[in-house]
Amino acid sequence: MQPNAMKTRAKPKVAFFSFTCCEGCQLQALSCEDELPDILSLVDIVNFREAIDEKRDDYEIAFIEGSVSRTQEIEEVKKIREKAKVVVALGACSSTGGLNCLKNRFPMQEAQKVVYGDKAKKYKHLDTIPARPIDAVIHVDYYIHGCPITKSEFLHALKSLLLGKKPDIPNYPVCVDCKMAGNVCVFEKGMTCVGPVTRAGCSAICVTYGCVCWGCRGLVDNPNIEAHEETLKRYGLTVDGVLRSFDLYGGWERHKENK
Ligand code: SF4
Ligand code: SF4
Ligand code: SF4
Repeated sequence: MQPNAMKTRAKPKVAFFSFTCCEGCQLQALSCEDELPDILSLVDIVNFREAIDEKRDDYEIAFIEGSVSRTQEIEEVKKIREKAKVVVALGACSSTGGLNCLKNRFPMQEAQKVVYGDKAKKYKHLDTIPARPIDAVIHVDYYIHGCPITKSEFLHALKSLLLGKKPDIPNYPVCVDCKMAGNVCVFEKGMTCVGPVTRAGCSAICVTYGCVCWGCRGLVDNPNIEAHEETLKRYGLTVDGVLRSFDLYGGWERHKENK
């Protein structure tokens, strides 16, 4: 074999970035211990603060975790977009704004008092803006939803990108997962749930373990609000009342007109 015929193709370079968040979604990616050797044989990870010291900016695929909540983060996210061929939003903070958008519901001083208590004054000059998902700032190619993401969905998305395919992310409601898991609907137990309009893919884990769905994976693309409304009426509830549950993870989408 000629020497140049032995040349191998360069591995795609992948980078992970983190903005305002708990970094739990990167931790999910890192905890794919069984698959990490295979991943590392297929890609070069060139930036991943939680795992390596290296910080290169010659990446093709960028996974961005966290929401944008400071002015300087707007420029930082834009720079990543300029460099990456593909940008993937990693987790609820990045995809929908997530829990961080709760602060947007309060005057800033009030929010700082809740967080910092009697030290709040010390932080009054912080660079802070209403928290938002990254697609409020840049174009996002793909989304991996959830708080946190599921390992299986992360691995599926990465594999799809390496094969040049579009990741197949569910676009049907959590109720489908919930029925497949054999759960009794929480409405039958006098509780409420936003599963009928929330994007599936989590196997309805919260309902399976005795809780309700709070919508961490965000709305399906075309939520059937009318069908949900009928169900809610049957149980003496209102759409608005239940959609307020979405403020926990989806406050940006519900209130972005106020920003
Ligand atoms: S989506 Fe949830 S787990 Fe992921 S970074 Fe945000 S708060 Fe953490
Ligand atoms: S409303 Fe909630 S509990 Fe009922 S089926 Fe849907 S996801 Fe399950
Ligand atoms: S059941 Fe709802 S809140 Fe729980 S993980 Fe799934 S989408 Fe998120």
